[in-house]
Amino acid sequence: MKTVKDYFGCLVFDDRVMKATLSADVYASLRKTIDEEKKLAPGVADAVAAAMRDWAVEHGATHFTHWFQPLTGVTAEKHDSFISPSPDGGVIMEFSGKELIKGEPDASSFPSGGLRATFEARGYTAWDPTSYAFLTGKTLCIPTAFCSYGGHALDKKTPLLRSMEALNRQALRILRLFGNDTAKAVRSSVGPEQEYFLVDKALYDQRYDLRFTGRTLFGAKPPKGQQMDDHYFGVIKPRVAAYMEELNEELWKLGILAKTEHNEVAPAQHELAPIYTTTNAATDQNQLTMEIMQKVALRHGLVCLLHEKPFAGVNGSGKHNNWSIATDAGQNLLSPGETPYENAQFLLFLCAVLKAVDDYQDLLRISVATAGNDHRLGANEAPPAVVSVFLGDELNAILDAIENDTPYEGVEKTQMKLGVHVLPRFNRDTTDRNRTSPFAFTGNKFEFRMLGSSNSIACANIMLNSAVAESLKIYADRLEQAEDFETALHEMIQKTIRDHKRIIFNGNGYDDAWIKEATEQRGLLNYRTTADCMPHLLDKKNADMLISHGVFSEPELRSRCEIMLENYCKTILIEAATMVTMARGQILPAVERFTADVASRAMVKKSLDAALPCAYESGIVQKLSALTDAIAFGVNALEEALRKAEGADDYFTQSAMIRDDVLAAMETLRASCDEAETLTAKEYWPFPNYADLLFSVQ
Ligand code: ADP
Ligand code: MG
Repeated sequence: MKTVKDYFGCLVFDDRVMKATLSADVYASLRKTIDEEKKLAPGVADAVAAAMRDWAVEHGATHFTHWFQPLTGVTAEKHDSFISPSPDGGVIMEFSGKELIKGEPDASSFPSGGLRATFEARGYTAWDPTSYAFLTGKTLCIPTAFCSYGGHALDKKTPLLRSMEALNRQALRILRLFGNDTAKAVRSSVGPEQEYFLVDKALYDQRYDLRFTGRTLFGAKPPKGQQMDDHYFGVIKPRVAAYMEELNEELWKLGILAKTEHNEVAPAQHELAPIYTTTNAATDQNQLTMEIMQKVALRHGLVCLLHEKPFAGVNGSGKHNNWSIATDAGQNLLSPGETPYENAQFLLFLCAVLKAVDDYQDLLRISVATAGNDHRLGANEAPPAVVSVFLGDELNAILDAIENDTPYEGVEKTQMKLGVHVLPRFNRDTTDRNRTSPFAFTGNKFEFRMLGSSNSIACANIMLNSAVAESLKIYADRLEQAEDFETALHEMIQKTIRDHKRIIFNGNGYDDAWIKEATEQRGLLNYRTTADCMPHLLDKKNADMLISHGVFSEPELRSRCEIMLENYCKTILIEAATMVTMARGQILPAVERFTADVASRAMVKKSLDAALPCAYESGIVQKLSALTDAIAFGVNALEEALRKAEGADDYFTQSAMIRDDVLAAMETLRASCDEAETLTAKEYWPFPNYADLLFSVQ
């Protein structure tokens, strides 16, 4: 029998394949590019292309594609075949270094937010050698960055790579100050935990809302929801287990280290987590994972819902971005070390993160903002829209001691002066079970929990890497000039704690009192919606920071802001239009039919005995008649709000109108429809209800 070891990574042109198929020189040169971000040496691309082609053709591939992540949120590819005519009338399989390095897809159908003039429809894709090429079906997929002809990034990978470079630059400066002369690179790594729902495809097909928007726009609460918590870590149902088994196999073949799988809190909700890897690769792999999750589901008669809030009243789906930074030698810079010296360095990196999160709360909120995720953040299940950091008791005590120059009551009683010789050892605290914190320290990494399940993790990590790079830059600028390193270090850490301790919160993030305290006393930001936060991407402090580290250009920032608002508007406008269609075309006729049938039954009864009260019938008819009017009125009001919003001049205005008027009209309409559902006989209801959807997969 084939074991996982035999097929793991069999569809990836990974290090093992490179080593086996490239000459020693070419291999060494390519590794230099991958590990140290050195420019590709001449001739290497041709040699790699030839090896890739032979390997791919041997595995049955006929085509290749530059695989990239435009700002639509899904991945894109344009397939070309390897086939080239040969003089003898046959064909040969061709793939040059030029084709590997650069592609020119028609960029006109991807969002550019004004970056691409219409006459300049072409964009180009550029090979990212730091992420392995892989096979899907008969196609060799080459991870690429996607730019406009003018060189502006039109994708998520380009700024992510730039942010990793920025972090690398600044972190190395700090390491040198601590006497580390050997580290060649510092990289961030991520392990994203991915939540999702599975529903039966036959039921899904009967609902326009699920098909058009990925979430239910109507639906009364089922008699049983998640009250019992009996689903969490419960026994996995056979159909789901079969799905997970095949999913794991597919991911393993692609070299994705899918590791854990379990049920989540809500019925029909599950989670998949891979073992962490370099942020760039983790981002590509998470994107691929989401695609494969959906593909494999279809083979099992299921649909995998990645929407952040498929069902009202039931927990939504998020994605936990476990983030750490490490040297090429494998030293995790967020791990308290064995020696006081390492601990001083650890504390500086920890402070860099605290400062980054406090200074750029808005960028972190923006990085997870979508119409779908707005339903989660601030609801009683996901982190609030207010960003704060959880550190745990031990670190808190240490920071307290440093802040106030008081003894630390930890392992040994020691004055917390950050001199190399007196800083105590402390144990790594892995006890975090505070699931309500948006940004929690979990022993040797931070877990950023605000991401939505469908988000690309690129955006969050771009902001996180950049903001931390900025803190480190400020530290390095100061420390490199310091006369006495240890004193300067101590002062800097102390100052960071004093200036930024407002971002630390170890209590219950779901508590309303916290939101009040956070916003009123601590002055933390609370941007509830995408429309609220997105325009702040262009605030001077944010733009200055991102531009100074070379992560975005000014035009790129403007275009991104516009595209994100456009996505928000389009998403909700489609939802609103779908509601109108369903309410008018399906719900109203169904309720009318049921009401008429009940009324006519009452008439029949009365014709038999005029004295019968028919209380049930008249009650239902009265209530449903009133609701029918409310629904009809609600549909018209929604249509009116929709029409007005569609007439807005720009996406800033439109997103505000949608937030204020369209969403409110949707909520009102939904309330009447959901109430009508509870009064209408199930056989009349025009589509599967919540109980059907949530408890159908066994
Ligand atoms: P949880 O208790 O939240 O499920 P786990 O320890 O299972 O936490 O880890 C969750 C994710 O964090 C996994 O994807 C794991 O690979 C990742 N992870 C673990 N250590 C690190 C690290 N040092 N840097 C980044 N991610 C990490
Ligand atoms: Mg977790």
